[in-house]
Amino acid sequence: MDIKRGFVETIGNTPLIRLNSVSEATGCEILGKAEFLNPGGSVKDRAALFIVEDAEAKGLLKPGGTVVEGTAGNTGIGLAHICNAKGYKCLIIIPDTQSQEKIDTLRTLGAEVRTVPAVPYKDPNNYVKLSGRVAAELDNAIWANQFDNLANRQAHYATTGPEIWQQTEGKIDAWVAATGTGGTYAGVALYLKEKNPAIQAVLADPYGSGLYSYAKTGSIKLEGNSITEGIGNSRVTANMENVPIDEAIRVTDQVAVDLVYQLLRQDGLFMGGSVGINVGAAVALAEKLGPGHTIVTVLCDSGSRYQSRLFNPDWLATKGLVMP
Ligand code: PMP
Repeated sequence: MDIKRGFVETIGNTPLIRLNSVSEATGCEILGKAEFLNPGGSVKDRAALFIVEDAEAKGLLKPGGTVVEGTAGNTGIGLAHICNAKGYKCLIIIPDTQSQEKIDTLRTLGAEVRTVPAVPYKDPNNYVKLSGRVAAELDNAIWANQFDNLANRQAHYATTGPEIWQQTEGKIDAWVAATGTGGTYAGVALYLKEKNPAIQAVLADPYGSGLYSYAKTGSIKLEGNSITEGIGNSRVTANMENVPIDEAIRVTDQVAVDLVYQLLRQDGLFMGGSVGINVGAAVALAEKLGPGHTIVTVLCDSGSRYQSRLFNPDWLATKGLVMP
């Protein structure tokens, strides 16, 4: 028998999908790790599970306890599912700039959701800092702290990285991913480099994020902005500290939007905006490396989380973007 014992055991072991349209256009094998097929719908299920189980193992999270987190949505959705499955409460603090779909999903899942104004990290009322203070004030509560909790990248070092290595039988030239917390990028990069140091770790970055300039010059410079959600950062998180970046590629929103629609119409894949940034960087890398290389990236979540934005031409127009 092959039976998963509930939600938690269903996380991970996602397929690796050849992205046919971009592979054929570039002559490279561009492969996407199908993280939108996790039971909570995103790459963040893995980190949420490792964070909760690490807190349980350390005796920090006890029966009836509360998991508190500041999140752009997907980590919160993963945590809310896991809390339901394991009998914990979940309290989520989310910036009011995130899609209504994610906020509605969190409420439907039974999380207590507090939307707060989006302010920079240096502001004490930033959603991440606020979530830490709220957790500290509650009895029997933990702060998931995904940005600086290394259980996040450990999830990808222990599961996503080995899965990619096995699925490609080690035939991989480059790993490309955008970072929010950096957990996915870092965990997979560290694992693959250990297996074969020649594999390139390539950072994809949207405008408005400081990591591209950090990778290129060593200092954070913020330029422009992006409609993508869940990626980009104005600081180097603990999950990204001492993690190799062999190359950094910045991708515009219009390129990301064009690719999201191409994946939808030509590949049958209905993807969120961060996938457009990831695939945009993978295509740019393929063009630089030339045909015959294998490039792996992440399909972080589904387009259904952004239907009112990315898939709404009127909304795109308000951002100066064109629906292809
Ligand atoms: N894409 C989406 C849609 C996300 O929600 C996130 C997580 N915030 C990421 C990419 C980036 O993942 P990570 O936090 O592991 O860097």
